[in-house]
Amino acid sequence: MSGVPARVAQSLRLAEAPRWAPGAIILLALLAAAFEAAGLYLFIPLVQSLGGGGQAAPMTPEWLHRPSGPGWTALLVAGLCLSILAKNVLGFAGGYLARYVDGIVAHRLRVRVLGQTLSSCIDYRPGVRMTDVVTTLANNTWKVSQALSLTWRLAICVITGAVFLGLLASISLRLTGLAVAMIAVTALVVHLTTRRAEALGGQVVEENKQFGLRMWESAGALQLIRSFGRESFELERFRSVSDRMRRRILALDLLWAVPGPVAEVLGALLIGGLILAGVAFGVALPALAAFLVALYRLQGPVREFLACKVALEGLGAALDDVDVFLSQTQTPLLKAGHQPVPPLLQGLEFRDVCFRYAPDEPLALQHVSFRIPAGKTTAIVGASGAGKSTLMSLIFRFRDPEHGQVLADGAPLTDFDVAAWRARLSLMAQEAQLFNATVAENIGYGDLAADAEAIRRAAEIAGAAEFIAALPNGYDTNLGDRGLRLSGGQRQRIALARTILRDPDVLLLDEPTNALDPETERAFQLALGRFSQGRTVVVIAHRLSTVRNADQVVVLDAGRVAEVGAPRELLARPGRFAQLYGLTLDDAREVA
Ligand code: ADP
Repeated sequence: MSGVPARVAQSLRLAEAPRWAPGAIILLALLAAAFEAAGLYLFIPLVQSLGGGGQAAPMTPEWLHRPSGPGWTALLVAGLCLSILAKNVLGFAGGYLARYVDGIVAHRLRVRVLGQTLSSCIDYRPGVRMTDVVTTLANNTWKVSQALSLTWRLAICVITGAVFLGLLASISLRLTGLAVAMIAVTALVVHLTTRRAEALGGQVVEENKQFGLRMWESAGALQLIRSFGRESFELERFRSVSDRMRRRILALDLLWAVPGPVAEVLGALLIGGLILAGVAFGVALPALAAFLVALYRLQGPVREFLACKVALEGLGAALDDVDVFLSQTQTPLLKAGHQPVPPLLQGLEFRDVCFRYAPDEPLALQHVSFRIPAGKTTAIVGASGAGKSTLMSLIFRFRDPEHGQVLADGAPLTDFDVAAWRARLSLMAQEAQLFNATVAENIGYGDLAADAEAIRRAAEIAGAAEFIAALPNGYDTNLGDRGLRLSGGQRQRIALARTILRDPDVLLLDEPTNALDPETERAFQLALGRFSQGRTVVVIAHRLSTVRNADQVVVLDAGRVAEVGAPRELLARPGRFAQLYGLTLDDAREVA
């Protein structure tokens, strides 16, 4: 999409400004322009009353041009001052209103972009970079409100321009024709010199995204960068994208600055030409003076119109970015059912499930069928890439199968409201994800309505109360980025307390003890074991000890179910499971 009318339409559509806004802003601008024009118009009788003489301009009422002494002059001066006052009050009110609306628009758009990011699982689409989402959210939503502000200014320029053109035409049609022709030439020159604005704007958006990516990756991998001694390499990469962005923005700024001087120089030529033409056409002095004042005043809107046009073209790519993002994420990827979620009595079932991440990718899960009995622990094992995490994300409904169904007590998960279903689950991953917030806030994330007492109880059950008490501010201690202040084991205990507070039916574990030392692991397992008793647990198991504690084992091999059975049974069999753990038959019998 291109062209100013199309961009104006696009920014109005994206901005979803309050209905009253365009009418109110344009009405105020129209009134302000009318008062200003009226003020300028009073110049003609004023100059006449001062003895300028000459003929009245055509199409103006006779009574305004009757020269009648100092009282009349004073009245005209008062009228002129009042109209300038009214113009400024109305202009200020209009400007304030436009800024108020732009602020609301940017705020609503930011909330909408984040809302759609959360609801659409866009992060699960291959090829989507989260830094791009951040750039859209942090930069480009502002640019929509900027575009809207340019749209108001364009409208105001058109209105003011039309009012002043009317005024000019009422003074001299011939001179007005000449002025319009010169303005058209100015617009053409500006258009030809700023043709690249739209393409340059696109490059700025792209550079911005590269810049966001470098910023995010450098800040997120500080330890890695230092440990590999790549400080100067990273600095150079960052310097290069930052510099490229600087140059593009400078080029765009340069284009934005072109219309002003071009319009002013051509405007000066125009005024010179009109004085000569006015004399040649025999236009009376007061009318010619008023004409030139009005024309001089018209230059402002013309210059601003041309500058806004270039600026709006420069923002085009940012508008397209927000537009594409909103349409990509508008309908959530998941079908949402509305059935209430009953307590899980029998269990979950995968029935002939196939899944792939993108149409051109191979199947990550192929005709997977098995049951997960309620109240029991099911261990999922398999080599890396076998499909274990994919299976978990289908239970969570981060994605839906392309074929087959996942069922809870016989009902497809797609029948349930997604949020209500997820409220029954809780995930503990290998790395506990913590927020840069206090201990209490991190645990309380499991149940936002929980009081301090409930948070303390959960921490006690998770075996975290002791080390929390030793922190400088106890439950009010800030944990730092990703819980930096705590050890791996302590982080997992905070995560367990959060899960305990959530009180899920189904506990999904991605071997949360993997990174812990044996002693910490034992203590953690004890707390976890107590909590998970009687709950449905699905655990991605890497260690044999985890598998042996399970009631059932599902062995995945390259996206297919290779074996299902009790751990003892599988260990005693020379199948994929025994092979996975490198066990000989004798070893296996021993372990079992
Ligand atoms: P596991 O958890 O057993 O290591 P995964 O479930 O992560 O295995 O991966 C199963 C297959 O799906 C692998 O081939 C992997 O490359 C692919 N895969 C995983 N996540 C994505 C993704 N977001 N986009 C595309 N392919 C993916």
